[in-house]
Amino acid sequence: MVFRFCFITIAVMSLLFANKHASADEISDMAKQALEIAQPNSFKNNIEYCGLIGYHLSGALLFSPPIPGFRNSCNPGLNPWAWKEVVATYHTHGAHTFDSDAEVPSVEDLLADFAEGTDGYIATPSGRVWHVSVKDRKAYLLCGVKCVTSDPGYQPCQALKPADEYTLKTLKKRIQEDDGTTC
Ligand SMILES: [Zn+2]
Repeated sequence: MVFRFCFITIAVMSLLFANKHASADEISDMAKQALEIAQPNSFKNNIEYCGLIGYHLSGALLFSPPIPGFRNSCNPGLNPWAWKEVVATYHTHGAHTFDSDAEVPSVEDLLADFAEGTDGYIATPSGRVWHVSVKDRKAYLLCGVKCVTSDPGYQPCQALKPADEYTLKTLKKRIQEDDGTTC
């Protein structure tokens, strides 16, 4: 009897744990899958695509299908999904450009994620993937060029090569130092 009770308790606890606490790796893997799907249309139409990652009412960790946004913005908040809990957003950055904020998260990306308290995942034209961590107040490069689909028109810019992480301060510095003639 005691054993059975223990077994049931452990089973229930592990179910709750599985539902509620996906590892950071599981969430970033899900973000990469969603971004991979969003990239081709983002290049073709040269606009951002975005969506949400979270727990559906069924308890499953899922991402909502990417929806089209605009050249420099995308609002995933209108997705008609039944979420129990949203854990992150994701968005793309459109087609290749030499703008200094194409291959990194923008200052606005960080400000929006920090204000909303929701982590963000971003794919760039080269296929880099970034993670904006609300907890650390930093953006981390998760993986480099061609990590997800890369724009066939992508051209690297050595002078604007991204660092591996940015705070709001170091990101603003990068943008300020680019006078638009670097590449
Ligand atoms: Zn962005």
